[in-house]
Amino acid sequence: GAMMDITQRKTFEESLQKLNERLDIRAKELALSNAELEQFAFVASHDLQEPLRMVTSFLSQLEKKYKPVLDDKGRQYIHFAVDGAKRMRQIILDLLEFSKVGRQELAGEKIDLNDLMGEVISLHRTAIEERDARIHVENLPIVFSQRAPLLQVLQNIVGNALKYTHKDVIPEIFVSASESKQEWTFAIRDNGIGIDAEYFDKIFIIFQRLHAKDEYEGTGMGLAIVKKIVENLGGKIWVESEEGRGSTFFFTILKAEKI
Ligand code: ADP
Repeated sequence: GAMMDITQRKTFEESLQKLNERLDIRAKELALSNAELEQFAFVASHDLQEPLRMVTSFLSQLEKKYKPVLDDKGRQYIHFAVDGAKRMRQIILDLLEFSKVGRQELAGEKIDLNDLMGEVISLHRTAIEERDARIHVENLPIVFSQRAPLLQVLQNIVGNALKYTHKDVIPEIFVSASESKQEWTFAIRDNGIGIDAEYFDKIFIIFQRLHAKDEYEGTGMGLAIVKKIVENLGGKIWVESEEGRGSTFFFTILKAEKI
Protein backbone atom coordinates (compact mmCIF):
# COMPACT_ATOMS: atom_id res chain seq x y z
CA GLY A 1 0.00 0.00 0.00
CA ALA A 2 2.74 2.44 1.01
CA MET A 3 4.72 1.70 -2.16
CA MET A 4 1.65 2.46 -4.23
CA ASP A 5 1.17 5.77 -2.41
CA ILE A 6 4.73 6.89 -3.05
CA THR A 7 4.60 5.98 -6.75
CA GLN A 8 1.36 7.84 -7.15
CA ARG A 9 2.70 10.89 -5.38
CA LYS A 10 5.85 10.85 -7.52
CA THR A 11 3.82 10.70 -10.75
CA PHE A 12 1.62 13.47 -9.47
CA GLU A 13 4.57 15.65 -8.53
CA GLU A 14 6.17 15.06 -11.91
CA SER A 15 3.07 16.02 -13.82
CA LEU A 16 2.65 19.07 -11.65
CA GLN A 17 6.18 20.13 -12.39
CA LYS A 18 5.66 19.62 -16.13
CA LEU A 19 2.52 21.71 -15.95
CA ASN A 20 4.42 24.43 -14.14
CA GLU A 21 7.14 24.43 -16.76
CA ARG A 22 4.59 24.68 -19.53
CA LEU A 23 2.84 27.55 -17.75
CA ASP A 24 6.14 29.31 -17.34
CA ILE A 25 6.92 29.04 -21.05
CA ARG A 26 3.42 30.23 -21.93
CA ALA A 27 3.71 33.23 -19.60
CA LYS A 28 7.01 34.20 -21.21
CA GLU A 29 5.52 33.85 -24.69
CA LEU A 30 2.57 36.02 -23.70
CA ALA A 31 4.77 38.70 -22.16
CA LEU A 32 6.83 38.75 -25.34
CA SER A 33 3.85 38.99 -27.69
CA ASN A 34 2.33 41.69 -25.49
CA ALA A 35 5.50 43.73 -25.60
CA GLU A 36 5.70 43.24 -29.37
CA LEU A 37 2.12 44.32 -29.81
CA GLU A 38 2.70 47.46 -27.75
CA GLN A 39 5.83 48.24 -29.69
CA PHE A 40 3.90 47.77 -32.93
CA ALA A 41 1.08 50.06 -31.79
CA PHE A 42 3.60 52.67 -30.71
CA VAL A 43 5.64 52.62 -33.92
CA ALA A 44 2.63 52.36 -36.23
CA SER A 45 0.77 55.22 -34.61
CA HIS A 46 3.90 57.32 -34.54
CA ASP A 47 4.92 56.66 -38.14
CA LEU A 48 1.42 56.94 -39.57
CA GLN A 49 1.10 60.51 -38.41
CA GLU A 50 3.55 61.90 -40.92
CA PRO A 51 1.96 60.56 -44.15
CA LEU A 52 -1.45 61.44 -42.77
CA ARG A 53 -0.35 65.03 -42.21
CA MET A 54 0.69 65.10 -45.88
CA VAL A 55 -2.71 63.84 -47.05
CA THR A 56 -4.52 66.42 -44.95
CA SER A 57 -2.31 69.27 -45.99
CA PHE A 58 -2.57 68.55 -49.73
CA LEU A 59 -6.31 68.10 -49.46
CA SER A 60 -6.66 71.52 -47.93
CA GLN A 61 -4.37 73.00 -50.62
CA LEU A 62 -6.58 71.37 -53.22
CA GLU A 63 -9.66 72.84 -51.62
CA LYS A 64 -8.15 76.31 -51.28
CA LYS A 65 -6.75 76.57 -54.81
CA TYR A 66 -9.36 74.76 -56.85
CA LYS A 67 -12.58 75.48 -54.97
CA PRO A 68 -13.84 77.85 -57.71
CA VAL A 69 -13.37 75.32 -60.50
CA LEU A 70 -14.77 72.33 -58.59
CA ASP A 71 -18.45 71.48 -58.77
CA ASP A 72 -20.53 70.49 -55.72
CA LYS A 73 -19.67 66.84 -56.09
CA GLY A 74 -15.95 67.59 -56.20
CA ARG A 75 -16.16 69.72 -53.07
CA GLN A 76 -18.18 67.03 -51.34
CA TYR A 77 -15.56 64.40 -52.15
CA ILE A 78 -12.87 66.59 -50.63
CA HIS A 79 -15.05 67.09 -47.59
CA PHE A 80 -15.44 63.32 -47.15
CA ALA A 81 -11.71 62.79 -47.55
CA VAL A 82 -10.90 65.50 -44.97
CA ASP A 83 -13.42 63.98 -42.61
CA GLY A 84 -11.86 60.53 -43.02
CA ALA A 85 -8.38 61.93 -42.44
CA LYS A 86 -9.59 63.67 -39.26
CA ARG A 87 -11.04 60.46 -37.90
CA MET A 88 -7.90 58.57 -38.78
CA ARG A 89 -5.85 61.16 -36.91
CA GLN A 90 -8.00 60.67 -33.82
CA ILE A 91 -7.66 56.89 -34.05
CA ILE A 92 -3.89 57.17 -34.38
CA LEU A 93 -3.69 59.54 -31.39
CA ASP A 94 -5.84 57.19 -29.30
CA LEU A 95 -3.76 54.20 -30.32
CA LEU A 96 -0.62 56.07 -29.34
CA GLU A 97 -2.23 56.94 -26.01
CA PHE A 98 -3.16 53.29 -25.48
CA SER A 99 0.33 52.04 -26.23
CA LYS A 100 1.81 54.60 -23.84
CA VAL A 101 -0.20 53.49 -20.79
CA GLY A 102 2.15 52.09 -18.18
CA ARG A 103 5.29 52.89 -20.17
CA GLN A 104 6.58 55.40 -17.68
CA GLU A 105 6.88 54.55 -14.03
CA LEU A 106 5.10 57.43 -12.37
CA ALA A 107 5.57 58.19 -8.73
CA GLY A 108 2.59 57.61 -6.49
CA GLU A 109 1.12 60.50 -4.56
CA LYS A 110 -1.73 61.37 -2.24
CA ILE A 111 -4.78 62.29 -4.28
CA ASP A 112 -7.96 63.80 -2.94
CA LEU A 113 -10.56 62.36 -5.30
CA ASN A 114 -12.97 65.20 -4.52
CA ASP A 115 -10.45 67.59 -6.07
CA LEU A 116 -9.88 65.25 -8.99
CA MET A 117 -13.64 65.05 -9.66
CA GLY A 118 -13.74 68.86 -9.54
CA GLU A 119 -11.16 68.88 -12.30
CA VAL A 120 -13.11 66.31 -14.33
CA ILE A 121 -16.24 68.44 -14.05
CA SER A 122 -14.45 71.55 -15.23
CA LEU A 123 -12.94 69.62 -18.17
CA HIS A 124 -16.46 68.64 -19.23
CA ARG A 125 -18.02 72.02 -18.50
CA THR A 126 -19.26 72.62 -22.05
CA ALA A 127 -21.01 69.26 -22.33
CA ILE A 128 -22.49 69.65 -18.84
CA GLU A 129 -23.88 73.10 -19.60
CA GLU A 130 -25.17 72.10 -23.03
CA ARG A 131 -27.22 69.25 -21.58
CA ASP A 132 -27.92 70.87 -18.21
CA ALA A 133 -26.46 67.69 -16.69
CA ARG A 134 -26.44 67.08 -12.93
CA ILE A 135 -23.39 65.51 -11.37
CA HIS A 136 -23.72 64.35 -7.77
CA VAL A 137 -20.46 63.56 -6.05
CA GLU A 138 -20.52 61.82 -2.67
CA ASN A 139 -17.73 62.51 -0.24
CA LEU A 140 -14.79 60.69 -1.85
CA PRO A 141 -11.63 59.40 -0.16
CA ILE A 142 -7.99 60.35 -0.42
CA VAL A 143 -6.01 57.61 -2.14
CA PHE A 144 -2.38 56.94 -2.85
CA SER A 145 -2.08 56.49 -6.59
CA GLN A 146 -1.01 58.18 -9.82
CA ARG A 147 -2.73 61.44 -10.55
CA ALA A 148 -2.62 61.80 -14.35
CA PRO A 149 -3.79 58.26 -15.20
CA LEU A 150 -6.54 58.42 -12.57
CA LEU A 151 -7.75 61.74 -13.96
CA GLN A 152 -7.93 60.14 -17.40
CA VAL A 153 -9.96 57.21 -16.07
CA LEU A 154 -12.57 59.46 -14.43
CA GLN A 155 -12.58 61.87 -17.35
CA ASN A 156 -13.31 59.08 -19.83
CA ILE A 157 -16.02 57.39 -17.78
CA VAL A 158 -17.77 60.67 -16.97
CA GLY A 159 -17.35 61.74 -20.62
CA ASN A 160 -19.15 58.58 -21.75
CA ALA A 161 -21.87 59.12 -19.15
CA LEU A 162 -22.43 62.57 -20.69
CA LYS A 163 -22.32 61.22 -24.24
CA TYR A 164 -24.46 58.08 -24.19
CA THR A 165 -27.59 59.80 -22.95
CA HIS A 166 -31.24 59.89 -23.94
CA LYS A 167 -31.71 63.06 -25.98
CA ASP A 168 -34.81 64.13 -24.06
CA VAL A 169 -33.76 63.28 -20.51
CA ILE A 170 -31.59 65.46 -18.25
CA PRO A 171 -28.40 63.46 -17.66
CA GLU A 172 -27.81 62.61 -14.00
CA ILE A 173 -24.53 61.15 -12.87
CA PHE A 174 -23.75 59.83 -9.39
CA VAL A 175 -20.16 59.31 -8.27
CA SER A 176 -19.55 57.36 -5.06
CA ALA A 177 -16.99 55.19 -3.33
CA SER A 178 -17.15 52.21 -1.01
CA GLU A 179 -14.42 50.68 1.04
CA SER A 180 -13.24 47.19 1.85
CA LYS A 181 -10.19 46.14 3.78
CA GLN A 182 -7.87 46.11 0.79
CA GLU A 183 -9.38 48.43 -1.76
CA TRP A 184 -11.65 51.29 -2.69
CA THR A 185 -14.42 50.66 -5.20
CA PHE A 186 -15.65 53.65 -7.17
CA ALA A 187 -18.99 53.74 -8.91
CA ILE A 188 -20.06 56.12 -11.66
CA ARG A 189 -23.76 55.70 -12.35
CA ASP A 190 -25.69 57.35 -15.18
CA ASN A 191 -29.27 57.40 -16.42
CA GLY A 192 -28.25 57.04 -20.07
CA ILE A 193 -29.01 54.58 -22.85
CA GLY A 194 -27.50 51.60 -21.06
CA ILE A 195 -25.72 48.58 -22.51
CA ASP A 196 -26.97 45.09 -23.34
CA ALA A 197 -25.40 42.46 -21.06
CA GLU A 198 -23.98 40.76 -24.16
CA TYR A 199 -21.53 43.67 -24.55
CA PHE A 200 -20.38 44.11 -20.92
CA ASP A 201 -16.91 42.73 -21.74
CA LYS A 202 -16.66 43.77 -25.37
CA ILE A 203 -16.82 47.51 -24.72
CA PHE A 204 -13.44 47.33 -22.94
CA ILE A 205 -11.66 45.95 -26.03
CA ILE A 206 -9.88 48.35 -28.38
CA PHE A 207 -11.95 49.68 -31.28
CA GLN A 208 -15.11 47.99 -30.02
CA ARG A 209 -18.11 50.28 -30.11
CA LEU A 210 -21.82 49.73 -30.35
CA HIS A 211 -22.85 52.68 -32.47
CA ALA A 212 -22.32 54.19 -35.90
CA LYS A 213 -20.04 57.22 -35.90
CA ASP A 214 -22.85 59.56 -36.96
CA GLU A 215 -24.99 58.44 -34.01
CA TYR A 216 -22.39 58.95 -31.26
CA GLU A 217 -18.86 60.10 -32.07
CA GLY A 218 -15.85 58.13 -30.89
CA THR A 219 -13.08 55.73 -31.80
CA GLY A 220 -13.86 52.92 -29.36
CA MET A 221 -10.55 53.37 -27.55
CA GLY A 222 -11.68 55.22 -24.43
CA LEU A 223 -12.65 52.26 -22.27
CA ALA A 224 -9.73 50.16 -23.52
CA ILE A 225 -7.38 52.89 -22.29
CA VAL A 226 -9.31 53.12 -19.00
CA LYS A 227 -9.11 49.35 -18.45
CA LYS A 228 -5.41 49.29 -19.19
CA ILE A 229 -4.77 52.11 -16.72
CA VAL A 230 -6.89 50.58 -13.95
CA GLU A 231 -5.25 47.17 -14.34
CA ASN A 232 -1.85 48.78 -14.47
CA LEU A 233 -2.58 50.33 -11.09
CA GLY A 234 -3.54 46.90 -9.75
CA GLY A 235 -7.31 47.35 -9.92
CA LYS A 236 -10.31 45.89 -11.77
CA ILE A 237 -13.04 47.49 -13.85
CA TRP A 238 -16.50 46.31 -14.85
CA VAL A 239 -19.93 47.55 -15.78
CA GLU A 240 -23.48 46.82 -14.68
CA SER A 241 -26.26 48.11 -16.82
CA GLU A 242 -29.81 47.80 -17.96
CA GLU A 243 -30.51 48.77 -21.54
CA GLY A 244 -32.54 51.95 -21.73
CA ARG A 245 -32.20 52.68 -18.00
CA GLY A 246 -28.55 53.51 -17.43
CA SER A 247 -25.16 52.07 -16.57
CA THR A 248 -22.83 51.95 -13.59
CA PHE A 249 -19.10 51.67 -14.15
CA PHE A 250 -17.10 50.30 -11.22
CA PHE A 251 -13.36 50.31 -10.72
CA THR A 252 -11.11 49.53 -7.79
CA ILE A 253 -7.95 51.05 -6.40
CA LEU A 254 -5.74 49.12 -4.02
CA LYS A 255 -5.26 50.75 -0.66
CA ALA A 256 -1.68 51.63 0.14
CA GLU A 257 -0.20 51.61 3.63
CA LYS A 258 1.49 54.92 2.89
CA ILE A 259 -1.49 57.17 3.68
P1 ADP B 1 -16.18 55.45 -27.75
O1 ADP B 1 -16.95 56.25 -26.76
O2 ADP B 1 -15.09 56.18 -28.42
O3 ADP B 1 -17.05 54.68 -28.71
P2 ADP B 1 -15.39 53.75 -25.51
O4 ADP B 1 -14.32 52.72 -25.48
O5 ADP B 1 -15.31 54.88 -24.53
O6 ADP B 1 -15.40 54.28 -26.98
O7 ADP B 1 -16.78 53.01 -25.32
C1 ADP B 1 -17.06 51.83 -26.04
C2 ADP B 1 -18.55 51.64 -26.23
O8 ADP B 1 -19.18 51.39 -24.96
C3 ADP B 1 -19.26 52.89 -26.75
O9 ADP B 1 -19.24 52.93 -28.16
C4 ADP B 1 -20.67 52.73 -26.20
O10 ADP B 1 -21.43 51.93 -27.06
C5 ADP B 1 -20.47 51.97 -24.91
N1 ADP B 1 -20.55 52.84 -23.71
C6 ADP B 1 -19.51 53.35 -23.01
N2 ADP B 1 -19.93 54.08 -21.95
C7 ADP B 1 -21.29 54.01 -21.96
C8 ADP B 1 -22.33 54.54 -21.11
N3 ADP B 1 -22.06 55.29 -20.02
N4 ADP B 1 -23.62 54.25 -21.45
C9 ADP B 1 -23.89 53.49 -22.52
N5 ADP B 1 -22.97 52.96 -23.36
C10 ADP B 1 -21.68 53.21 -23.09
